[in-house]
Amino acid sequence: MYIIKNIDIYAPAALGRKDILVGGTQILAIEESLDALVSSLPRGRVRVIDGSGSIAVPGLVDNHLHITGGGGEGGFTSRTPEMEFSQIAAAGVTSVVGTLGTDASTRSMNNLLAKVKALREQGISAWCYSGNYQLPLHTVTGNLTDDIVLIEEIIGAGEVAIADHRSSQPSPAELTRLASQARVGGLLSGKAGTVNIHVGAGAEGISLLEEAVAGSEIPRTQFVPTHMGRDQALLNQGISWALAGGYVDFTACTVQQFLDEGEIRCSSALNMLLDNGVPLDRISFSSDAGGSLPEFNEQGEYLGMTVGSCTSLLDEVRLAVHVEGLDLPTALAPVTENPAKRLKLQGKGRLQAGNAADLVILDQQSLKPLQVFARGNLIYERGANS
Ligand code: ZN
Repeated sequence: MYIIKNIDIYAPAALGRKDILVGGTQILAIEESLDALVSSLPRGRVRVIDGSGSIAVPGLVDNHLHITGGGGEGGFTSRTPEMEFSQIAAAGVTSVVGTLGTDASTRSMNNLLAKVKALREQGISAWCYSGNYQLPLHTVTGNLTDDIVLIEEIIGAGEVAIADHRSSQPSPAELTRLASQARVGGLLSGKAGTVNIHVGAGAEGISLLEEAVAGSEIPRTQFVPTHMGRDQALLNQGISWALAGGYVDFTACTVQQFLDEGEIRCSSALNMLLDNGVPLDRISFSSDAGGSLPEFNEQGEYLGMTVGSCTSLLDEVRLAVHVEGLDLPTALAPVTENPAKRLKLQGKGRLQAGNAADLVILDQQSLKPLQVFARGNLIYERGANS
């Protein structure tokens, strides 16, 4: 058991300074003071952590990342490695949803599913989407609906690419059929059953999704377009999509070159969307970690690549607060409560009694993780793991 004392809690709503009791895999209590309880417990049973000068936030929910690696588009040597548990934990991420990406030839759903199971064994919560960029999807059972209904770890479809030279150039009808299969899988299993959509650099943006929704009974909430900060034109489409009730996801991993070419950071995108009247609960960030990010010098020569990291999520929370001037609850919602609710991840994304003991203790000034708990276990402690 752990008691975290005198800590400023952002659940993500601001709850003020309180004590948190963690027991088993859950948050057992959040109270003004748990001193009486602490003194009644046998010595040695409880570790007391002094939370003065720090803040507690929910463990981050990363709804799109390449846990088995990504890349490969520069040939076999450009395939990126499988992600390590320690990297994810140190970034304050306690729930992940893995996805395959472009390459379903040398990477497989079986491998993705095995990695999800491994991350669970190591201590965080993990799920995955079924499929890849191209249609027909690579699934586990051969049928998307069956995957979602019968395989506990699979909670939706994706990432399916549109507006991209690497997509299968799907028609609105194909996307509608895909969404209906995911939707039925979700209905039968109590899962979200959404379709994670990779939106590429094509000028058409998400117009295909608008067509699919306009021409069918599929609600727009069934599709979750990601990489929506790729440029201003796509972001504008995202504002319309979200004002009409849809969800939009923004990618935290980036490189200077993308920003120079017009990519909009998650933190800036959040500010712009809120300014345009988009409700906060429509907006999420994901890291896209594990994927490859090309690096070029000033002459535009290819230098190699870096691999995206989950630390980008908290980086964007910090930028949202320190640069965009947003308050911490607003900055946290897209990486905690919003994706957890959208994906129906029970007990995740919010600090409250009865919920999973997934929480991050951050230094109040730097907003960097001091300790990370997942399902009640301390999985990262600054200084201890490095
Ligand atoms: Zn993508």
